[in-house]
Amino acid sequence: MIPAEIIERVRAETDIVGLIGEYVALKRAGRSFVGLCPFHKEKTPSFNVSSERQAYHCFGCGAGGNALTFVMNYENLSFPEAVKHLAERLGIKIEYTAEDDPSKPLYDALEIALKVYKNKLWSEEGLGARQYLASRGLKEENIKTFALGLVPQDTSELLARARELKLSTKMLSDAGVLGNHQGRFYPFLAGRIVFPIKTASGKLVGFSGRIFGEDANPAKYVNTPETKIFKKGQLLYGLFEARPYLRREGALIAEGQMDVLRLVQEGFRSAVAPLGTAFTAEHARLLSRYTESVILVFDSDEAGRKAALRTLGEALSSDLDVKLVLLPEGEDPASYLALHTRQDFEALLKEAEEPMSFLFGLYSPKSAAELRRVAEIMISVIRRIPDNLKRELYVDEAAKLIGVHRGIIAERVSSGESKKQHKPESKTSRISDTEEMLLKMMVTNSEFVAIALKHLAPSYINERDSRELLELLYKKSSERERFTPGEIMDALSEHMRQKVSEWSLSELKYSKEEFSRTLAHYIYQRTREKLRNDLREAENVGDAERAKRILSQLNSLVRESNKIYQGI
Ligand SMILES: [Zn+2]
Repeated sequence: MIPAEIIERVRAETDIVGLIGEYVALKRAGRSFVGLCPFHKEKTPSFNVSSERQAYHCFGCGAGGNALTFVMNYENLSFPEAVKHLAERLGIKIEYTAEDDPSKPLYDALEIALKVYKNKLWSEEGLGARQYLASRGLKEENIKTFALGLVPQDTSELLARARELKLSTKMLSDAGVLGNHQGRFYPFLAGRIVFPIKTASGKLVGFSGRIFGEDANPAKYVNTPETKIFKKGQLLYGLFEARPYLRREGALIAEGQMDVLRLVQEGFRSAVAPLGTAFTAEHARLLSRYTESVILVFDSDEAGRKAALRTLGEALSSDLDVKLVLLPEGEDPASYLALHTRQDFEALLKEAEEPMSFLFGLYSPKSAAELRRVAEIMISVIRRIPDNLKRELYVDEAAKLIGVHRGIIAERVSSGESKKQHKPESKTSRISDTEEMLLKMMVTNSEFVAIALKHLAPSYINERDSRELLELLYKKSSERERFTPGEIMDALSEHMRQKVSEWSLSELKYSKEEFSRTLAHYIYQRTREKLRNDLREAENVGDAERAKRILSQLNSLVRESNKIYQGI
């Protein structure tokens, strides 16, 4: 648990312009700063950051929030991780104990192992492994950046280092560093070259080990067994290193670790690969947080084509834009780049194919039966696309390629869909214009919140999101008279945060008179609405007495409406 004071300090002391300026080039424009939005692709800057309001908002894609939501979204961190990240940046130390983070000893065990493995690779005994890596065209600098290592055959160094940190042998085994055979511990992945596997935020969670040289072991790659922190279906090799480039360059999805290293070495820095397993829906979702587009670069052998097809389906279902490249028969990116130039590979990427024409080319159907088979595959792929418009475009393309009327493909696509799958409609309960204006004024000026607090009960507001916003504003206002909208932003729902950040970045200023008038008008509107509802209800149940009473209340409300304003 992070103490509340630390969260408050982080909110109050982090300057949003300084923080975002570390990620995005910002230029002053009027009272705020603008830059290219890191959350969507754009050429004209519509991403605004305000120091005065401690908020950011993109008028292009709607992304908005405060310092905490920025690092949460950009670095893909949870709320506590984001607090910790910003606290460290401010030099505030948060001490974690094993109770706070029960996985800490596992991470420590892996870090120890990594040190031992790296030492081994660069020692005399690592010569053979280093020669192998060089023969695959990997440069020393690259091997060091990705922290490759070599697992020793014995446990002595591992155990010695673990003792220094008071880590038990069992912990090494729980982290997947040691294997256990009939009660005897042995180094897992012994004799293999290892690739450290990190999460998207850079935490080491396990290793992939590759055989080299004369080793007759049939399993080329073996991963750390699944542990509490190592879930290979959720991890992509190279993701942490690729992250800074993904949004602008899109991802290159390759088949293996060696491909990623070789691609990065040649300057294709956004390369990632699953850990010798199939590309899963979880992988696709993970990637879609960082980029909208991917290019699959696969081997053209049977296995590569199958993997490409499966990856295509998963990527499309996460609404990624997908293109595909099949390398010449028998080549993977690593071997291709060993024989060709960077420019050759760039040319291949430029010619990457759209999914439908890729599928058509893959099977190059000649007979009617083959055409039908390809059409079926296309249809099954199109069905996975969540976006209607994109699906329509693919239907068009498939129909053209197969040479049938688009209606036939469209019908087949929709007939196979599980109906009623659509998500619950987003609640579009309209906030009234006055209500919206009122909230907007309070967001832009915390002094107004103190005024509203005396006259407007949150129960006046019907819409839940708006009511929650008002309650938050009241809570902040009773703690401190003046505050920035940035201070409440991370507690809001995504939908409300977009609105609030947009209001925060508007240049409009409102006078106290304008606010009082709007508040009075709103209270009047809502009181009248409530009385009218009561009246209808009384009439419905035939309570004439009550109806009469309400009617006279309504009359006096209308007559004396200006009294509300005078009272504020
Ligand atoms: Zn944007």
